[in-house]
Amino acid sequence: MSGTPRVDGRPKRGAGRRGAAPAAKSPGGPWTAVSPPEWREFVGSWLQASGCSVRAAARGDWEVELSDDLKRRWRRQRVRLVFDPLRPTLPRGAWFTAPGSGAGRKLLEAAVEVPQITRRTALAHVPGAPEEGLASVCKVRGLSWGHSRLGPVRYDRRVAFHGVVTGWGGLPWQERWVVLLGPDGEFVEWARAPELPDIRTREGLYQINQELMPEQCTRWLAEARRHLDRILDERQLEWERSVGALRDAELSRLGKFFSSRIEEEEERLRRRVTNGDESDFEQGDATSLKLEWERRAAEVRQRWAVRTEVRLWGLEEWSWPVADLEQELRAGAVRLRLTSRVDVARGRPALPACPSCETPAEMLVRSRGAVRCARCA
Ligand SMILES: [Zn+2]
Repeated sequence: MSGTPRVDGRPKRGAGRRGAAPAAKSPGGPWTAVSPPEWREFVGSWLQASGCSVRAAARGDWEVELSDDLKRRWRRQRVRLVFDPLRPTLPRGAWFTAPGSGAGRKLLEAAVEVPQITRRTALAHVPGAPEEGLASVCKVRGLSWGHSRLGPVRYDRRVAFHGVVTGWGGLPWQERWVVLLGPDGEFVEWARAPELPDIRTREGLYQINQELMPEQCTRWLAEARRHLDRILDERQLEWERSVGALRDAELSRLGKFFSSRIEEEEERLRRRVTNGDESDFEQGDATSLKLEWERRAAEVRQRWAVRTEVRLWGLEEWSWPVADLEQELRAGAVRLRLTSRVDVARGRPALPACPSCETPAEMLVRSRGAVRCARCA
């Protein structure tokens, strides 16, 4: 792989071009003639990810053997990319590849045309569920669990939306989120992390062969928006509470400062009135202090005002192992059969539904002749 060009962002200057770098003096400046290293990195990574083979050539150029798709698209087998903007002449058929050049635009157009989506499979955990079954997640009192029975493992199609959430105002923060939805867009989980936690994965969609339907994508997208909004609202409330305390402290300091200044001012005014030399100007001082106070308080409120922004940057389609778990719950002579969905990737059963009110139960007890959870007992 000695011929693989560096795509680490550092421009590689050709040999024998001593003194040819004056244009790099103001990196990032508007008129810098050297193409930005991130650009070169992007081009290299994208070409390789699209199935092209990229080889370093003389003078920092790249010789690219195109993928079949790009061969058809650009009607050529290979192309030489020149990144050096100071090159006086280009080799025959070569493309000058700066972000705004014709070739740069061609690359960008091709890159945005097909959305990049990753396909991954979550590997099954062994064992698929803990031996004690639902007893591992749901406590019982006055009842006892029978043996658990784990059904066959099947694979659900799921989708993960990756986003960066930024909170503005007060103390700005930024978080990376992943929201995982099930086959019908139902919410499965979310993590405040760059990746879904506690799973082992493999690239590709093993176990799922049927094509993804466009309607399913539309539904996923709509549901993802709904769930993101919901989580964001919750997170924003949490954030407003913490930020609100800081804002109120600042407003109260401001209030103390101005009310004592106004008091002083009014005290002085009273003394002057007693001495018989009141003037309109001084009456105005307390008023302008009040106005100033209002202005500063509005500023503080605005500075702490909360605003969030979500930027989605990635999608993953998942093949996820799940199974159903059945377990008997014995209450004297009564036997109930409870079922629960198991996340086989983590070997973890979901909470069983309460037999009386059907909400997920962490604890079940006997109450008024039935099995009930803490909510309905
Ligand atoms: Zn209940």
